[in-house]
Amino acid sequence: MSLLLAALALQTAAPDPVVGLCRFDVAQLSFAGSPAEQARCLMQPVGKRGALAASPKRLPGTLSRVMAGRVPLPSRDVVTHLLAAERMDIGGVDQPVSRARDGDPTAPLARYFVIHDTSTPYYGDEPFPADIDGDARVNSFRPYFPANADPEKFPVAHLFLNRIGQVLVGQPLSRPWRATKLETRVIGLPAKGLFLHVETVMPRRRDPAIEGWNDAIAPNPGFSARQYDRLAILYIALSVRAGGWLIPAQHATMDHGLPQAHDDPQNFRIKDFDRALHRRLRALRRD
Ligand SMILES: [Zn+2]
Repeated sequence: MSLLLAALALQTAAPDPVVGLCRFDVAQLSFAGSPAEQARCLMQPVGKRGALAASPKRLPGTLSRVMAGRVPLPSRDVVTHLLAAERMDIGGVDQPVSRARDGDPTAPLARYFVIHDTSTPYYGDEPFPADIDGDARVNSFRPYFPANADPEKFPVAHLFLNRIGQVLVGQPLSRPWRATKLETRVIGLPAKGLFLHVETVMPRRRDPAIEGWNDAIAPNPGFSARQYDRLAILYIALSVRAGGWLIPAQHATMDHGLPQAHDDPQNFRIKDFDRALHRRLRALRRD
C-alpha cells in the first residue's frame, strides 16, 4: 500500500468526530449546544421501542434555571445531611466522580446524569403485579447483582434505584464506567468516565401485537413518585460530587439511531422530575 493510500485508509477508519442524535463532539467531550439545548435533546420523551416524541420547546422551570446556571449548587454539608436523613448511601459526597478518558487526571469530571430503566423483572405474557410499586419481586435488587459475574461487566450501572426508593451502589461513582452503545461502540475510551449511570427499576411485558420475544410494554406511569423524588436527590448529590450541575440524559436518546439501540427509560416524565427537583432544592434552601 502506498503512503497516500495508507493515509486515506487511516482517515476512513477514524471515527466521525460528531456523533449521534444530539451530536456528541468527541474532541470537546460534549453534545452540541448550551447545557439547556443538550438537556432538551437528551430528555425528549422516549416512546415504545425507542420512538422519540418531539422535545418540548423549553425545559420545565427548575431544570431550565439549573441548566442556565441560575441555581447555586448546594453545599457538601447540606447534601451529606440530606443523604443521611433519607438513608441513602452513595459513598458520600466528599470524593469527586469519575473523570473522562478512563480516569485521565487531566480530563474533565463526569458531566452527564444518564437515566435508564432496568426492564426487569420480565413478565412475558403475564400481567404486571397489582401493586407494581410495592411488589417485592419487582423491587428486588438481586437480578442486578448476579453471583460470580464478571466484575468488568456487572453490575451494569453506578446506581440502582427501586420503586420504593431504595438505592444501591453498583459501581463506585469514582469509577469510569460505560453503559450505552454510544460510549462503548462509537465514542470509545474518551467517553469512559464522562457519564454517570442510574438504573431505575421498571418491569416489562411482552407486547402480543409484536411478533416474537419482546419487552415492549412498560408500566404507565413508568416511574413511581418515590423514584422521581430519589432521582432528584441523586441528581443533586452527584452534581455536587461533579462540582457542577450535571446534564440529564436518557439511554435511548444517547443511542438513538444505533443498531440495537435500547428503549429505556420508558415513560419518563420530565415535569414530574422537575417538580421533585424543585421540592428538594426548596427544602435545602430552608435548612
Ligand atoms: Zn439502559
